[in-house]
Amino acid sequence: MTASAKPVLVIGAGVQGLTSAVVLAEQGRAVRIRTAERPGETTSAAAGALWGPALLRPADKVLHWVTRSHAEFTALARDERTGVRLVPGRMAARHPLGEALPPEVHLIPDLRRCDREELPAGFVDGYAGTLPLIDMPGYLAYLVERFRAAGGEIVLSGVPSLADATAEADVVVNCTGVGARELVGDPGVQPVWGQQVVVRNPGVQDYFIELSRGGEFVSWMPHADRLVLGGIAVDGEWSRAPRPDVGAAILHRCAEVEPRLADVEVSGDVVGLRPGREQVRVEAEEFNGATVVHDYGHGGSGVALSWGCAFEVAELIG
Ligand SMILES: Cc1cc2nc3c(=O)[nH]c(=O)nc-3n(C[C@H](O)[C@H](O)[C@H](O)COP(=O)(O)OP(=O)(O)OC[C@H]3O[C@@H](n4cnc5c(N)ncnc54)[C@H](O)[C@@H]3O)c2cc1C
Repeated sequence: MTASAKPVLVIGAGVQGLTSAVVLAEQGRAVRIRTAERPGETTSAAAGALWGPALLRPADKVLHWVTRSHAEFTALARDERTGVRLVPGRMAARHPLGEALPPEVHLIPDLRRCDREELPAGFVDGYAGTLPLIDMPGYLAYLVERFRAAGGEIVLSGVPSLADATAEADVVVNCTGVGARELVGDPGVQPVWGQQVVVRNPGVQDYFIELSRGGEFVSWMPHADRLVLGGIAVDGEWSRAPRPDVGAAILHRCAEVEPRLADVEVSGDVVGLRPGREQVRVEAEEFNGATVVHDYGHGGSGVALSWGCAFEVAELIG
């Protein structure tokens, strides 16, 4: 691919866009981000967010991306200003989990099966282990600061078409999440709607996530004085408005599992659209004489995959 004096244009300032932009800017490239939303308004800001196994396709690449990301998050957790910490907790299910485990669990140094008495009532199987936990609003602000320190520029501006983007730059990185459906006309991109309730933390230190077969589950993720409660996943829903009935149901389900959550002070609800797609798309194509690198479709694991995908974006640019 040809060297260019024009800045690389990254579209999107969620976790994929910012991480890719940081990697490219720290390689010494001029990089501009154009984004329709501020980082704190994106789906990425609404995520819990845990690094964990990503049961997505293409499986070999996903394993590679999630592994690289684990190494980065583990390193970032040494600096509390990043918003990343290594936190103990449990992943539990109301059904038997069997013996097969995703390959990336070998990255969890202290992973072990829970004893029955460690599981909440109604749960029959589960694992305990320490995972990277990412406080997304703070972490996105950290990425913005790191990007700007490397000379990057962020412009709040929607990109109406790829033609508009390639008129501005010879290299474009498309990190538009669910927005890719419209921007590149990819009907395979579907929103998977999620809502979480943010409450004042009554002293919960460990994370909990229910491994559910359905669209409703119990989760809590502790960040300093906040606790993020979940969860729900609804295919095909585009609304970004929180639903009071969903928020109330999340609080009820969480309090059933953890009594300390029965009377918590609610700060608000957050909603995000997970960018669902049959496969994560990280690939380059030529368009209007420019190179467009696509990086979207990360479903419910975009944070967990972010560094691996960002490094691959940089490798594809060359
Ligand atoms: C409730 C919930 C909990 C989650 N928990 C986790 C978790 O624990 N761990 C995990 O790994 N993942 C989690 N996820 C998934 C994760 O949030 C997503 O996979 C990830 O945020 C996707 O990042 P992204 O940067 O691709 O997209 P987004 O964060 O959606 O960012 C897209 C960006 O593109 C911009 N954009 C779109 N179209 C255009 C356009 N035409 N012009 C200009 N800009 C445009 C947007 O404004 C935005 O800046 C969760 C998601 C939800 C909703």
